[in-house]
Amino acid sequence: MKAVSLESYIPIARPQLGPEEEKAVIEVLRSGQLVQGPRVAAFEAAFATATGAEQAVATSSGSTALFLALAAHGVGPGDEVITSPLTFIATANAIVQAGARPVFADVDDTLNLDPTRVEALISPRTKALLPVHLHGNPCDLRQLGAIAERHGLALVQDACQAVGASIAGRGLGSFGTAVYSLYATKNITTGEGGMVTTNDPAVAARVAALRHQAYSAGGGYRHDEVGYNYRLTEMQAAIGLCQLDRLEAVTSARRDNAAFYDQAVDGVRFPRPHVLPTSFHVYHQYVLRVPAGSRVQRDPLQSELDLRGIGTGVHYPVPVHCQQPYRELGADCPAAERASSEMLSIPVHPGVSEADRERVAAALAAL
Ligand SMILES: *Cc1c(COP(=O)(O)O)cnc(C)c1O
Repeated sequence: MKAVSLESYIPIARPQLGPEEEKAVIEVLRSGQLVQGPRVAAFEAAFATATGAEQAVATSSGSTALFLALAAHGVGPGDEVITSPLTFIATANAIVQAGARPVFADVDDTLNLDPTRVEALISPRTKALLPVHLHGNPCDLRQLGAIAERHGLALVQDACQAVGASIAGRGLGSFGTAVYSLYATKNITTGEGGMVTTNDPAVAARVAALRHQAYSAGGGYRHDEVGYNYRLTEMQAAIGLCQLDRLEAVTSARRDNAAFYDQAVDGVRFPRPHVLPTSFHVYHQYVLRVPAGSRVQRDPLQSELDLRGIGTGVHYPVPVHCQQPYRELGADCPAAERASSEMLSIPVHPGVSEADRERVAAALAAL
């Protein structure tokens, strides 16, 4: 095997940052107003518009945004929240932090919460559904929305990986409360950061209050309940405004790389992402399956690609119901477990050049 020089290594993620972000941060530093200024408000307004929601409230991370969104929808002790086991563990942790219990329903071919498995798990304690748009691929929100409505449940979307995604031309934010992450590896980033979007003014107001120590609207260091410090800074919001300007370009670059892989990679050996007909997938990750009976198994394939200078990832290798804190719940999710052992994310971010993606496809064909 030829040694590969470091500069030709294709990473699995790389943030898109430029002189615009640098200038914006310096302006904030020189303004002297580092928090609670105009940039957070401007970022929230622009984010709501970009995601099809009426309102957006910025927080310190996707995790804090998830927690606050659940709390604002009244999720608390004694409640159950039905969610996907195939996600970053933060999804389930937010449910526990809100005082409630996660109930895991298995996934469908999109690797998202399977609507046909949800209703059997609804109990008198069920308060909300928390589906995830894993890898930036929209889940079956129409069916999940109908189930939520039929049973009087809140619907909170974990759209942390899905900024810019839509269904039938409608931004995810238009379907009800959604939560986004602005972490460094996400499609747009502020380093750390999160956003709750909603069409419910009461939810927006409650998230805004709770993130800021539940200050009373009247001010004067009066607090209506126990709150938190989950604020976003002006520096982060300034970066976020620049990142939103890039959203269309980064999304089309990801979709262009994904369309290339759809054509160039053998879809029989490596089944491709399953996308619902009306979904606009934003390819936070491009995830192939390496079926159990393949001539090269997933883990050795990943090591071989690494030797050839191709970074890959597994999102995620252990489903949440099999993680230590959640094992005792005894969830039965065989499809999620199978997916965890077969999934392989290949580089799809905007920093992947045409030559890079050709190298990825050639390596997959050769191995
Ligand atoms: C990134 C992510 C989170 C958590 O977001 P942070 O900003 O890292 O706190 C939650 N859920 C999913 C699906 C994520 O990808």
